[in-house]
Amino acid sequence: MTSKALSDHLLGLLGPNGWLTKDIERYQADWLNRRSPQILGVARPATTEEVSAVLRLAHDANVPVTPQGGNTGLCMGSVPENAGAIILSLSRMRRIVSVDPQDFAVTVEAGVVLADLNGELENHGLMLPMHLGSEGSAQIGGLIATNAGGSHALRYGMMQDLVLGLEAVLPDGSIWNGNRSLLKDNAGYQLRRLFCGSEGTLGVVTKAVLRLYPKPRQRAAALIALEDFQAAVGCGAGLRREFGEFISALEFFTETGLDLVLKNISDLSFPLETRSPVYMLVELSSSSASVNLMAMLETALGEAYEQELILDGVIASNEAQRLRFWRLREEMPEGQRLEGAQIKHDIAVPPSRLDAFVSRTCAGLKGLMPGLRINLFGHLGDGNIHFNLSPPPGVVEFGDKGDGLSHFIYSQTTAAGGSIAAEHGLGRTKLQHADTLRSPVERRLMRLIKTAIDPKDVMNPGVIVRRNLDQE
Ligand code: FAD
Repeated sequence: MTSKALSDHLLGLLGPNGWLTKDIERYQADWLNRRSPQILGVARPATTEEVSAVLRLAHDANVPVTPQGGNTGLCMGSVPENAGAIILSLSRMRRIVSVDPQDFAVTVEAGVVLADLNGELENHGLMLPMHLGSEGSAQIGGLIATNAGGSHALRYGMMQDLVLGLEAVLPDGSIWNGNRSLLKDNAGYQLRRLFCGSEGTLGVVTKAVLRLYPKPRQRAAALIALEDFQAAVGCGAGLRREFGEFISALEFFTETGLDLVLKNISDLSFPLETRSPVYMLVELSSSSASVNLMAMLETALGEAYEQELILDGVIASNEAQRLRFWRLREEMPEGQRLEGAQIKHDIAVPPSRLDAFVSRTCAGLKGLMPGLRINLFGHLGDGNIHFNLSPPPGVVEFGDKGDGLSHFIYSQTTAAGGSIAAEHGLGRTKLQHADTLRSPVERRLMRLIKTAIDPKDVMNPGVIVRRNLDQE
């Protein structure tokens, strides 16, 4: 089938609102403004059956398809690398199908935006405990496809831990209906988990049954200043032991990131008098009104201060102040983006190794590029660091040094027993590094899975696995 014939077919199938070939620039650029080559068009199916028909046509015509959700992914998985490809946007599939309070479950179409879902769940006293800076745009399908983590993963797990059931359309158009609302379902391979983190390479997630939790009735948050990472990890572990299941977030950022957000984002302020190398944001929450979280946090921080484990700390006295603490942490990506050129890395190491890892890696990086600004922030509790770089002040680009800097970070991470892709996935941008660092057996396993489900390599080619591994 020619491209023209395929385009005509898709127009006939989806109508002018469902098949777009003009004014599609916004679909072709991702959140960091990286663009795809000229594509055939954007399919916006409204039902699972339409997704199936689009995939069948593309499969038969050997035309690659890239699923796209909220387009907030940070590894360039949401825009195609091939000219003539199709972007399949889930933006018209945004129905909340049913909320089931007794099962603590909700069934949604893949295009539902996370913040919209939690807005609706509030009416039922429930929540999907996934919290991230992009929640106003990120969609359920995208969150599943990237196996998103976010700041509550420490307590509630990652997206894979919140998916009870799933419906997906496979590359040849067949529909797998695994929409069961069960926590316990060991009837064979864990197919639902296979799609978590598959980044659009195995098919299109069209529907999901998600696990819900009671919405907290109270929260208490504190911002803490610390001497260094060793102190932060020690203090974080102490708070986890003390508060157990009440800890819902243990986040961190550094002085470099604080400088960038305060410089580049006008309506932010910093509540502590003490400036220090590392800051931690701790939050406790409970669905019970009868535990006194505020008093618990005050006691613990008072003791930590007396024992000189922390330099300073402040507890949010009301909801508005709590949200202001969170904005400081969540505006870290934006504060750095506004500064100009940057290289992002999303890595994880076991928290116990974090201090030595950070010291060693930062020293090595500064040797490779003197004056480099290293902005570390992320999820302290799970050792997940957004290890982001800005060039030295006054320098606008990394020149030819960028790849070497990334490779250094990734090899140090691997040596420390860590992961080079903690929560954002591999996309297109990290595939080369992953292939260099993962073992031949792991590479082969990934390729076997991809080939078994998508032998024609039409689903989001160039993401997660390389094409030509025949020699392995
Ligand atoms: P997209 O960006 O549209 O797509 C991402 C990948 O999923 C692509 O490979 C795409 O092909 C695939 N995909 C999308 N929808 C489907 C579908 N229905 N079926 C199959 N494949 C699909 N991530 C975190 O994990 N934790 C964070 O704390 C976090 N914070 C962020 C903060 C900011 C400011 C930004 C911009 C991003 C952040 N992210 C974070 C990254 C991003 O928001 C997540 O990866 C999110 O899950 C992507 O969802 P999306 O709907 O935007 O997907």
